[in-house]
Amino acid sequence: MKAKPPDILTDTIVRRPRLTGTEPCTRTEAKVQFFHASYDTRRPEVQAALRACRRCPLNAECNIWALARPEQVSDGIFGGTTPRQRLTQRRQLVDRCGDEAAVENVLRRAYQQAVHRRTRNTNP
Ligand code: SF4
Repeated sequence: MKAKPPDILTDTIVRRPRLTGTEPCTRTEAKVQFFHASYDTRRPEVQAALRACRRCPLNAECNIWALARPEQVSDGIFGGTTPRQRLTQRRQLVDRCGDEAAVENVLRRAYQQAVHRRTRNTNP
């Protein structure tokens, strides 16, 4: 029997980073700040959310997680990216890697490296 390919949606390596409650998107006003009808990056409220993500220690992992789940994370600002920016990043990854399976492998590795970097930086 042929081995089942890894499922990026259930893979435990590329899961949503564990939130501590201190990340900007966990605040009560987050729904307003991180979800918009338009993600035009010229809009101040979109820029504010993107800036907040850039200051978040989970930024890299969050971006990779959102990239790994384009269907599930089709709305909202995550990991410092708008939905359109993630679509572009995902297309560029597929172009560079050749196929979706290769993209999944790249994202898994990138996620592990991001976790390692953050852990190392917070526990020198
Ligand atoms: S990167 Fe942005 S969306 Fe992701 S956990 Fe941090 S604040 Fe929230």
